[in-house]
Amino acid sequence: MSNQSIHPSALAALQRPSNTGDRSTIRKLSDFDQGVLAVFTSHDKNLGELTHRFDLLCPRNGCGSVILKAGIGRWVERDSVELDTAQESLHPDLPALPAPPATAHWWLVTPNMMEFENIGFTRPVQKDAVAAKKLKFLICAECDLGPLGWCEEGGNEFWLACSRVGYR
Ligand SMILES: [Zn+2]
Repeated sequence: MSNQSIHPSALAALQRPSNTGDRSTIRKLSDFDQGVLAVFTSHDKNLGELTHRFDLLCPRNGCGSVILKAGIGRWVERDSVELDTAQESLHPDLPALPAPPATAHWWLVTPNMMEFENIGFTRPVQKDAVAAKKLKFLICAECDLGPLGWCEEGGNEFWLACSRVGYR
């Protein structure tokens, strides 16, 4: 038995936890001991601003579509937004955000959607008051998982929830 060999790919498969698929390489914010602190790096163009040092991915097990390349989004803590309607049951890859007016952590992407590698949008939704601007939710362009974030209809700021994207 001393000479027994195992093909590298078989070994890799054995070492990979079962039934997690591609997820072994997609990390969630909750997978980092230090949370959002672990993914920060200073922004190239705006020193003093913080960005993500990983590519941002669709968090869905088996999807992992690249949403945004590392170093593009700017970290902002600001008012949370209700991304989910009460009727929808939450997808396990989409942790609930704090209820407004509590704050949440966001990756802010500007000035337009060309910054993204892949992103999808929902139809505009009127959240509540008539006066309120219509929101569009950001979803995975490959598998439609979402909402991952939001933007105002016709707006030039795109907000991705730090807890709702994968990191690689
Ligand atoms: Zn996806």
